[in-house]
Amino acid sequence: MKKLLPIILILLTTYSCSVEDDSAPLFIEPIFVDNPTAKLLVDIIYVVPSENHDKSMYQLDEAKYLEFLNGCFFNRNDIGIEMGESRVVINSELYDLKDNRGNESAVFSRETQDSYKQDRLNIYVIPRTNTIAIAGIGLRQRALITDEFLFQSTSPHEIGHALGLFHCDVEGNIMTRVRPYLRKDFDGNQINTMRERILSINSDE
Ligand SMILES: [Zn+2]
Repeated sequence: MKKLLPIILILLTTYSCSVEDDSAPLFIEPIFVDNPTAKLLVDIIYVVPSENHDKSMYQLDEAKYLEFLNGCFFNRNDIGIEMGESRVVINSELYDLKDNRGNESAVFSRETQDSYKQDRLNIYVIPRTNTIAIAGIGLRQRALITDEFLFQSTSPHEIGHALGLFHCDVEGNIMTRVRPYLRKDFDGNQINTMRERILSINSDE
């Protein structure tokens, strides 16, 4: 099963949203929009186990990550994700989720209660190697994404949850749980739900 996991191909010279699987290569053509009407601020929050660590352990190119989200999934739906703050949170329990099998969502909710900001989307990053089965978790305005899954459909999937979306079983839809390597788009209802949620977040409900 492991070898069926999607592999991201990032070309050396050009940015690309290629997601490839052994049997079903999927290419998402990036589409960028200059001034999308629904703008969502996002904080990227690196979870570290102690004060001896910092965000450099993740080596995430934040600009490239936002480009991936906007170009492959959100700009085409008139949604723009904009960088807020890049932060570090020291939390060994969240960092090491493998001690909480089956309880990950509850731990995530509890452990981020004080660090997430309500006027934006909050993306928490933890190492994939510290989890057993979790690629990501999405809760109200909060997404947890394990580092190996940042540049995959896990990111828009969890952001979808954080903006009010539930699972569906339509192949190719971002919110399905089957064949994640084929996930590539949201449907009209999902886009409306996310846009309404963004307006609500921005109006500081
Ligand atoms: Zn899900």
